[in-house]
Amino acid sequence: MRVTWTADGDTWRMAFRLDAEDDVTGRCADGQPLRLATNSFRIELPRAPREIHPDLLALAAWTVAAPWTRRRIVFDRPISDGLAGAIGDGWGVEAGPTGTGARSGGRLAISYSGGADSVAVAAMLPDAPFVHFQRVSHPRVPNRWTHYRSDVLAELAAATGRELTVVRSDLEFTLAEPRPGYPEHHAVAAGALLMADELDLGGLAFGYELGSRWLGGDRYLLRYTPDNPMWAPHGAWGRAFAAAGVHLVLPVGGVSEAVTMRLALNSELRGQVRWCLRGVGGPCGTCGKCLYKELIQAAVERRPLRTTITAGRPVARRWQEPPPYGGQEMIEYGCARVPGVEDTVFGAAARYLGATESSTAWLERCYPPAIEEIPEPWRGRVRDFMTGEIGLMSEDEARRVETWGVA
Ligand SMILES: [Zn+2]
Repeated sequence: MRVTWTADGDTWRMAFRLDAEDDVTGRCADGQPLRLATNSFRIELPRAPREIHPDLLALAAWTVAAPWTRRRIVFDRPISDGLAGAIGDGWGVEAGPTGTGARSGGRLAISYSGGADSVAVAAMLPDAPFVHFQRVSHPRVPNRWTHYRSDVLAELAAATGRELTVVRSDLEFTLAEPRPGYPEHHAVAAGALLMADELDLGGLAFGYELGSRWLGGDRYLLRYTPDNPMWAPHGAWGRAFAAAGVHLVLPVGGVSEAVTMRLALNSELRGQVRWCLRGVGGPCGTCGKCLYKELIQAAVERRPLRTTITAGRPVARRWQEPPPYGGQEMIEYGCARVPGVEDTVFGAAARYLGATESSTAWLERCYPPAIEEIPEPWRGRVRDFMTGEIGLMSEDEARRVETWGVA
């Protein structure tokens, strides 16, 4: 793999060329098979940064190129020994050339999507600046996803009134299948990496919560994942970001989506929360994500489910079948708490799971090891918030995390 960055004012373009052993099919760090659509993309920054350390350019490139790279990657500027070592150890890929010193930075920014999880992070860190990734169209790839209203999400981010850097990029269109999206989950940070020297970033906070970090959430199912390759600080990606002087920080990594939902709904940013990419004046209310989040919100607000989605609809089909489910801990939580859930699209799931309020009480507190892995400069703030506002899991409750998918 060979990577070339070129700058034109505020816009950076990356092109990459596959070597003979590389392939247009690859896998994301979570195991998802991916197919490449095109080998270039751009990132539009809000202003031309004073400088960009070569490790930042290289790591931003790696968040897109990693799935397609087999044996080696050659960057167009020398990188640090630390980053080359992290890519070698993490992926078995030879990275170079080397020959520059390591970088470091001081501030913590939030990779802000506007969803409930990132709003919860924003509520915890009220003075942290936001960096928001906005999808824009690619000049050579037709956009069949015009219902994804990234412009609405960017407007909502601006409406928060927080210090905000919006980076616009078409990098998601480098992915042909399963659909346009981040080749690696970390590609959402590509623009933040390019701005990291300008903003003096030493860390980037993400809204990944207990399920994503520790329970093998999302595309994983039911598996305790202390060594999560994407989000553990000692995992491949955690080490690569640390080597580039931008530590991965998961302020809500120890709490469930019930807690992040409650924090978001109680936040002064409540009016700007939006987890759905489809709605303009509000969430669409008809997609699978809206249905899942509605279950959590109804559980948190202790009210009946509000949805027009019926059991026969494709987005509700998985809940008519037996578990395991993605995000199963939150399905259990919702089914145990939503009044009248047995007569909703989640009725079958509720019967299969048999969850109760007491069997899901652990999802209302913080898993202590998640605090210990926050980098030192920010750990005290997170610990104070979790002990003061949320409460820590008991040993028995922590065991629920550590036996998830095992018991
Ligand atoms: Zn929706």
